[in-house]
Amino acid sequence: MPARVFELAALHQLAVKRVMVRNQRSRWGSCSRRGTISLNWRLVQTPILVRDYLILHELAHLREMNHSRRFWIEVARLCPGFREAECWLKQHSGLLA
Ligand SMILES: [Zn+2]
Repeated sequence: MPARVFELAALHQLAVKRVMVRNQRSRWGSCSRRGTISLNWRLVQTPILVRDYLILHELAHLREMNHSRRFWIEVARLCPGFREAECWLKQHSGLLA
């Protein structure tokens, strides 16, 4: 999974410092101001579209550290299928528990 993060980051010319895979109960991932991306290991249970979306979502936080309109415009640019992925996540939110 970290390899995919660096691959997608390079593709979109974003600088990721570190990728960590963690055991998180409440969220799929996070991004620190310093460029560390944390991903939930449970992502391996999701379809590739969803996994890529979550990675791109965290990568978009490197540009916008919030969930503003500008952030979502950036997400849509990086991942045009993001709505479908969000929908899947809502339907499978039980996977996080
Ligand atoms: Zn976010």
